[in-house]
Amino acid sequence: MSSIANNIHMVQQHLSETAKKYNRNSEEITLLAVSKTRPVDDIKDAYLAGLRHFGENYLQESLEKIDTLKSLNICWHFIGPLQSNKTRAVAENFHWLHTVARFKIGQRLSDQRPPEMPPLNICVQVNISEEESKSGCSVAELPKLIEQLSQLPNIIVRGLMAIPTATDNTELQRKTFAQMKQLLLELQQNYPHLDTLSMGMSGDMAAAVAEGSTMVRIGTAIFGPRAPKTAQ
Ligand SMILES: *Cc1c(COP(=O)(O)O)cnc(C)c1O
Repeated sequence: MSSIANNIHMVQQHLSETAKKYNRNSEEITLLAVSKTRPVDDIKDAYLAGLRHFGENYLQESLEKIDTLKSLNICWHFIGPLQSNKTRAVAENFHWLHTVARFKIGQRLSDQRPPEMPPLNICVQVNISEEESKSGCSVAELPKLIEQLSQLPNIIVRGLMAIPTATDNTELQRKTFAQMKQLLLELQQNYPHLDTLSMGMSGDMAAAVAEGSTMVRIGTAIFGPRAPKTAQ
C-alpha cells in the first residue's frame, strides 16, 4: 500500500470513529482531498485508494492537473481565493467553488458557466472569526448575499464554508464550527435545499465533524507536509 493510501485509510477511520462518537452518519461527510502543490501521481494514488473529490487552490496549477487527469472520474473543487478576472476558468473547469464572498463573483460565474454543464455548486465563505485579514462574507451580510446568489440560473448555492483562525484549543474550534452550523440552520428555513457545511482541515477535523461538517478538506493528513508555495 502506498503511504498516501495508508494515510487515507487512517483519516477515514478517524472520520468514521468521530462521526460515530457524535451520532453522525459518516456517509453524510465527504472527504475532500486537498491536493494543492501535489504532483498528479499523488492524486492518482489517492484516486486508486477510492477518493473522488479533490480540492485545489491555485488556478494555473489546477488547470494543468485537470487536463492531465481528464480520463479519471474526479469531482474538482476550487477552494482558493478567486479574483473576478479569473472566474471563467473556474466556471468552465470545476464542479464546485467554496470561496464565494461577493455577488459580483457569483454573477460572473453564472454568466460564464457553459450551458451544456450542470450549474456550478458554490459555498459562500463566511469570515466567521471576523478577522480583518481573512476573506469571506461577514455574518451580517450573509442573508442578503445568499438571497442574491440564489437568483442566478447557472450556479447553485449548496451551503457555507469557513477557515477559522487556527488554534489547538478544541473547545474554541468547536465553538466556531457550532456558529457555522447555526448560520446554516437559520438559512435552511428559507432555503431548505442548502446541505453543505465545508469545514474542518487536518488540524480541526474532529471538532468540525462534531459540529455538523458535511465536507472536510484534508491536505496534510493525506499527502504529508507541504513545501512552502512559491509565488506564481
Ligand atoms: C490547504 C487548505 C486545506 C487543507 O489544509 P491541511 O491543513 O493541509 O489539511 C483546507 N482548506 C483550504 C481552504 C486550504 O487552503
